[in-house]
Amino acid sequence: MATIRFKALDDLLAREPIESGTNIDRIPDYYGSNVFNEHTMRECLTEEAFYSVMDAGSKGTRINRAIADQVASSMKDWAISKGVTHYTHWFQPLTGSTAEKHDAFFKPVEEGRAIEQFEGSLLVQQEPDASSFPNGGIRNTFEARGYTAWDPSSPAFIMNKTLCIPTIFIAYTGEALDYKMPLLKALHAVDLAATDVCKYFDKNVTKVTATLGWEQEYFLVDKALYNARPDLMMAGRALVGHNPAKGQQLDDHYFGSIPDRAAAFMKEYEYEAHKLGIPVTTRHNEVAPNQFECAPMFEEANLANDHNLLLMDLLEKVARKHNFRVLMHEKPFEGLNGSGKHNNWSLATDTGVNLLSPGKNPKSNMQFLTFFVNTIKAICDNADILRASIASASNDHRLGANEAPPAIISVFIGSQLTSLLDELEKSIQAGKMTPEAKTALKLNIGKIPQILLDNTDRNRTSPFAFTGNKFEFRAVGSSANCGNAMMTINAIVAKQLVDFKSSVDKRIAKGDKKDEAILKELQKLIKESKKIRFEGNGYGEEWVKEANKRGLSNLKDTPRALSVMKDKKVIKLFNDLQILSPVEMEARHEVALENYIMKLQIEARILGDMCQNHIIPTAIKYQNILIENVKGLNNILPAAKAKNATSAQIDLIERISEHIAGVTSEVDTMVKERMTANRMESIEKKAFAYCDKVKAHFDQIRFHADKLEVLIDDEMWPLPKLRELLFTK
Ligand code: ADP
Ligand code: MG
Repeated sequence: MATIRFKALDDLLAREPIESGTNIDRIPDYYGSNVFNEHTMRECLTEEAFYSVMDAGSKGTRINRAIADQVASSMKDWAISKGVTHYTHWFQPLTGSTAEKHDAFFKPVEEGRAIEQFEGSLLVQQEPDASSFPNGGIRNTFEARGYTAWDPSSPAFIMNKTLCIPTIFIAYTGEALDYKMPLLKALHAVDLAATDVCKYFDKNVTKVTATLGWEQEYFLVDKALYNARPDLMMAGRALVGHNPAKGQQLDDHYFGSIPDRAAAFMKEYEYEAHKLGIPVTTRHNEVAPNQFECAPMFEEANLANDHNLLLMDLLEKVARKHNFRVLMHEKPFEGLNGSGKHNNWSLATDTGVNLLSPGKNPKSNMQFLTFFVNTIKAICDNADILRASIASASNDHRLGANEAPPAIISVFIGSQLTSLLDELEKSIQAGKMTPEAKTALKLNIGKIPQILLDNTDRNRTSPFAFTGNKFEFRAVGSSANCGNAMMTINAIVAKQLVDFKSSVDKRIAKGDKKDEAILKELQKLIKESKKIRFEGNGYGEEWVKEANKRGLSNLKDTPRALSVMKDKKVIKLFNDLQILSPVEMEARHEVALENYIMKLQIEARILGDMCQNHIIPTAIKYQNILIENVKGLNNILPAAKAKNATSAQIDLIERISEHIAGVTSEVDTMVKERMTANRMESIEKKAFAYCDKVKAHFDQIRFHADKLEVLIDDEMWPLPKLRELLFTK
């Protein structure tokens, strides 16, 4: 194995960097060329059909049958003109990845011939064989069927010579079985609630859109090395492996020059992304060796999320062409930074205003403060459900690790805004406000500088940070569908804005002037949400203590984080907003637990296999060589000399024995715990057992395995080492 390993490395070093995507014209020449976007629709559709699709996308109006036929037919002609033969409904089941089932654009006709065809009914709705997608028991209790339905707010696109139609995926009885449908509902809820609140400030606002700008981190590893690591192949992370002498201590990778081979890969995926209308603009090295980031310009949240999923797919596909594999896992390598997917989030009006961007005058700053304070309050009241929205087996390794946001949800807003909120909290008097007090307050609010983007004031340790004109939710995992986090943020903010509107209206009804009512309500919210604000070091031990004192949760693992989904208040919140019914919430809880169990089950089995089949046999072989060596020395040397000559080997033999015994007994216990867990009926108990009893052995197994890696002859070690995985450029 060692020779194969080095051959792979030699190959790599000898290989010329792959220059792909050469002869590429300028970006605007091909940008969006694989998308049935507004521009293309305007060209291909009748005016009536065009506006019908646009309205369906922005207002959720229905598209009638005749128009749907027309749109389908134009879509097909456009796709066929680009060499497309198949179409698919593209959807986002609760597995976390995307799903597609391809059908050809033709219909057999008489005399054994075929014609190209794509009808409106096929565009609008399909019934994929849904039985093998996670459903959390929904379909067992109701109907076995599920269907996909067109989402006209996200344009169709071409990938792999296939026309892909973004769709929602629902049970026959209407329950959502995907991430997109609840997201769309949450976006609708926040639109209604925010538009209502905007009316206090500007009557012209008729729609508010949530925006999302994600930042995708990932690792690249060489394909040959990856293929020689069962853990990377099956679990996406290294379950064993001694830390290399050089990790990220020198910080020499961050923003360093991008290696040629990685740069060639980036150029090609960017080219493909641009053809799909994904506005990726930023690429750079991340902190850990072989870790990189890609970020686009922000977009409307639903579209941005579709684009993120598409990009993840592209990264995988393009990486293979460059003999790389992408690791999207949140923590592929212990001891090195993990990968996240920061979700930059804001709200924008159809009058062109970013509601989380301070404005030029007191009025627009009042509006800014309103949305700013309400968001903080929403996070404060719903921190646990926000934590649950990003919970997964893989993200557990990252949250709270020393480079990632802690599992404790808190909000960072920077020193300027902190003092402003503190002042507001103090200066608004109870009862009627004097005109002087009001003027003074307004002056103060008017002084919020328009640009707060002070980069030095950024706190990288906060899970939810205000960064000048948006909030950045940093705890989202790199492999996650952002849909869940985005659905949650928009839902809880919608709920908060509804409550705010109703409280302010009550104050106005009781005789307060509008501004005064708003200010007093904001003051109340500032007080009530103070405990969630934290400006210090989120990685420190002191914060854990302080957060505990403040009564903030620190839910360190997925089963515990998910428990909030059983909370009556949470179920009611999502039900009242008509985003998730109690049945859907319960199903989602179950699916998340199932996913968690399966991930850990796979890891436990691979770890066991690697120890039994790779590590222990190798250790024994090497130990035997040492034993032979000791025997030989004893044969040829006089006893007094032999003792000296063999003592180091005997010591080594003993240490190897100790770690072989350690690995063996830990693996045995883990397997027993796994069997006990597997017999459990309750899915929740099973998840806790996997978390507390099975996973609990992983570190000990790894400890002994990594010791053996260091003790055993490198030539014999059967697995590519971390230094090879991480430093192969
Ligand atoms: P970083 O966090 O890496 O320092 P920036 O703060 O410059 O980077 O921006 C990060 C991301 O924030 C970008 O992807 C950008 O598109 C996004 N972003 C900027 N404004 C908004 C907004 N109003 N809504 C959502 N995302 C935004
Ligand atoms: Mg960022």
